[in-house]
Amino acid sequence: MDTDLYQILGLSRNATQDEIKKAYRTLARKYHPDANPGDAEAEKRFKEVAQAYEVLSDDQKRRQYDQFGTLGGGPQSGFQGAGGISDIFEAFFGGSSPFSNSSFRQSGPPRGSDAEVLVTVTLEEVVLGGETTFEIEVSVPCETCEASGSRGESAPESCSRCEGRGIVQEVRQSLLGQMMSTVECRACHGYGSVILDPCRTCTGTGTERKKKGYTVGIPVGITTGVTQRLSGMGHAGPRGGGIGDIHVRYQVAEHERFERVGDDLYEELWIPVTQAALGASIEYSTVDSEEHLQIPAGTRTGERIRFRGKGVPKLQRRGRGDLIVTIVVDTPVDLTKEERKLLSELAQMRDEMAPNKKSRNRKRR
Ligand SMILES: [Zn+2]
Ligand SMILES: [Zn+2]
Repeated sequence: MDTDLYQILGLSRNATQDEIKKAYRTLARKYHPDANPGDAEAEKRFKEVAQAYEVLSDDQKRRQYDQFGTLGGGPQSGFQGAGGISDIFEAFFGGSSPFSNSSFRQSGPPRGSDAEVLVTVTLEEVVLGGETTFEIEVSVPCETCEASGSRGESAPESCSRCEGRGIVQEVRQSLLGQMMSTVECRACHGYGSVILDPCRTCTGTGTERKKKGYTVGIPVGITTGVTQRLSGMGHAGPRGGGIGDIHVRYQVAEHERFERVGDDLYEELWIPVTQAALGASIEYSTVDSEEHLQIPAGTRTGERIRFRGKGVPKLQRRGRGDLIVTIVVDTPVDLTKEERKLLSELAQMRDEMAPNKKSRNRKRR
């Protein structure tokens, strides 16, 4: 679609959301398929209007469109899905969209359905990226009949009820009086043709089930619950219908060391009391690098050391979160006789031995 979205709605570039909504309502009513039965031009306009509205009513998509004049194209643009149109349509008219199969759809075989897959990835994969592979059973075009659904050379016969159009006009009563509406032909279920001699392999559906393997690049910075759409890689529609999408739903596995909060990572690091008192420089590995962690002398439990930019990369944005290390001073519990003696000497030296001495409520730094 290369027409200007603002032009489609008859608006200027600085139209407000109210104006966009208003223009969409007016035009959607005007070009609605129920009001223009069988008018292909009106139907085309209706879809354009719905798509323009889908973009311009969404601040983020609109900004992107204003900036680039496109939604970036490609499978992730979210522009092709009839679902989007249906959703908006339902929001406005409180009924099902003329594009959702029930009341109306293009004649011919329907599009295949979408498949959903749950993929679990590790924190390392989230930070470094990588690939995930999965196998699912999907509908694929039947090889025997090349998706036609018919056996051998026999061709499907054009449906006599709808004259091959897959849709018929019906008059129904509505609040506004009699209304013509376009509905799917019941004789051929919208296909426009009837199979007389079905293919033995697929019994006329034109599809068969097959296990297929997929390899997908893991989006860096992905979080649990985010879904990636693989356009046109799902189930094949019956009898040569279009191919649905795969929705890859991600789940990030818990990590044995790091806890993730947004783009930041947290770890509790236990250090011996001697290191806490004397200070130390220790080797510390983040998810993807080796660092020197400088523990100052006199470090206490709860003190934090922050590694900037060593957290999780931001999804589809620049930059990374931080890695925050919280120190926990570990009290030794397995003292040998000699160690106990040493510590007692230290305690005496520091005048910390008296058993009934009042505790000193020293304020923490
Ligand atoms: Zn077949
Ligand atoms: Zn028919």
